[in-house]
Amino acid sequence: MRVLRDLDLDLEMSSVLWCQGEDPSGRLTTEQQTSLNHDLIPESQQLLNPSVLYDRFALREVREQSIVLGEGAVFRGHLLADRFGLAEEVVLALCTIGGDLDDRVSKYRDAEDEARAVLLDGIGTAAIGELGEMAHALIRDEAQERGWQASAPFQPGQLDWPLEDHGVFFELLPAERLGLRLHSDHLMVPSKSVSMAVGLGEEMLPLAMHRACKYCPIADDCRFSRE
Ligand code: SF4
Repeated sequence: MRVLRDLDLDLEMSSVLWCQGEDPSGRLTTEQQTSLNHDLIPESQQLLNPSVLYDRFALREVREQSIVLGEGAVFRGHLLADRFGLAEEVVLALCTIGGDLDDRVSKYRDAEDEARAVLLDGIGTAAIGELGEMAHALIRDEAQERGWQASAPFQPGQLDWPLEDHGVFFELLPAERLGLRLHSDHLMVPSKSVSMAVGLGEEMLPLAMHRACKYCPIADDCRFSRE
């Protein structure tokens, strides 16, 4: 198992604007949005605690609608079962930027500064997106060092993988070391956190190399669709 803390994030203006979308507060011109971001991005850097925790697990069995890890833990649904047929191991990862940014967003909202609240929240989305990409790249590079392939990252809640399976992540990984906990709706707290499962093997099925967005029924209307 590896735990990585204080990771550096670039927070490029382009990815921030992509995550915020156009005029998310309904009150700003693009120039005003960009100008506010020039203040808020450095402010956000003081609030971020980018941390990643991940571990590898043997893949014991692939069934028609579920997979079984070495310890007997089960992930349900076709999402992983259809993709991990050639995988030999599965990496489970948890990533978070911590809760300080969310607290600041609430403070701006309490002060009725909706523009800063919405923009800072978008910066948080960009930050956790970048951290997730960084974690996947680390896992992929480690696999390549072994001469193995790594699948795309998948997470509970995508396609038919039930969100409730976040519980398996929290059983197998010491999430409390990142200050993470699970809400009763099976979402992680702090909210700017992501989970991922990545299949590893000498060879992976082509389907496993594409993100779930490629097969997602709402991808056309989803601003965060990534392929
Ligand atoms: S298209 Fe959107 S909703 Fe569908 S899997 Fe991708 S990010 Fe999730």
